[in-house]
Amino acid sequence: MKKEKFYSGFVTLIGRPNVGKSTLMNLFIGEKISIVSNKPQTTRNKIRSILTGEDYQIVFIDTPGIHRPTTKLGNFMVKSAQNALNEADAVIYMVEPQKNPQKIHEGDKAIIESLVSVKTPVFLAINKVDTVAKPDLLTAIDQYRQTRDFKDIIPLSALTGENTQALLKSIRGVLEPGPMYFPEDQITDQPERQIAAEIIREKALTFLHEEIPHGLAVEITKMKSRAENPDDENAEPSIVDVGATIFCERDSHKAIIIGKGGAMLKRIGQTARRDIENLLGSPIYLETWVKVKKNWRDSDFLLKNFGYDGKEL
Ligand code: GDP
Ligand code: MG
Repeated sequence: MKKEKFYSGFVTLIGRPNVGKSTLMNLFIGEKISIVSNKPQTTRNKIRSILTGEDYQIVFIDTPGIHRPTTKLGNFMVKSAQNALNEADAVIYMVEPQKNPQKIHEGDKAIIESLVSVKTPVFLAINKVDTVAKPDLLTAIDQYRQTRDFKDIIPLSALTGENTQALLKSIRGVLEPGPMYFPEDQITDQPERQIAAEIIREKALTFLHEEIPHGLAVEITKMKSRAENPDDENAEPSIVDVGATIFCERDSHKAIIIGKGGAMLKRIGQTARRDIENLLGSPIYLETWVKVKKNWRDSDFLLKNFGYDGKEL
């Protein structure tokens, strides 16, 4: 049997926090892999998601936003973002148009600077076009065009899906012949435990006050099916026991996360449970705990403990 040519490659997604990178990933992959939140810097690890088409496979790397680091965790995030650029066959650099005054954000100037030596083709995705007037969009396109030679400039909306296929098509155009790295039905190489932890963290971020989120980490301590033979695909889905610990930095935070009579923790758990059940395709029994670990963001030991391992760089 003659095999058609297959194309594949790694595509890194960069951009300031909150511009819509995770939203685009979710749109392409159609499942909740990368966590979307309206608070910046919620994506900590680079999460790969995989899009397999008729004759191509794109492995996306959703990096944490590049920013100026103030803690060890911040430092790790920046390093891992820059490293992902060099691995890539293409880079999607996502921005959102600025309003009053309309000019390139300082953070974007820094990113553009860091891209100067990058040889990988860079596609500029101007996101959130559903929120700007046409003339303002044209101004933004013009301003960015003057900063560097982009392979392509694509205005789009990750939320409505407008013009996102044009971006895919453009990327597909630079892929070289290559292997199918992952089975075609696989959409991520992240272990389910980690995605479950991210789901719980997302719910906590959504419901909690602004001062807590960056000091939160979630560890899945247990994920075990009650089925006799969990690998039997024909068996009825059995309950999966999931244990999760939410780590925060202060006793006062712990009290807020638990809430009056445990109400907040219950709310986080209930909403997370639904998403984790979707993820696993089985009902789950979720138990959550809250623990205080002071300054975990500045501790090498604790960072490793939560899976932010320097070796991964
Ligand atoms: P990230 O930090 O770059 O990964 O950004 P997220 O994907 O988490 O998105 C940040 C916020 O922007 C979320 O509230 C999204 O719903 C919102 N957002 C993303 N894309 C669009 C878009 O095209 N239009 C609008 N109006 N909002 C968007
Ligand atoms: Mg994100």
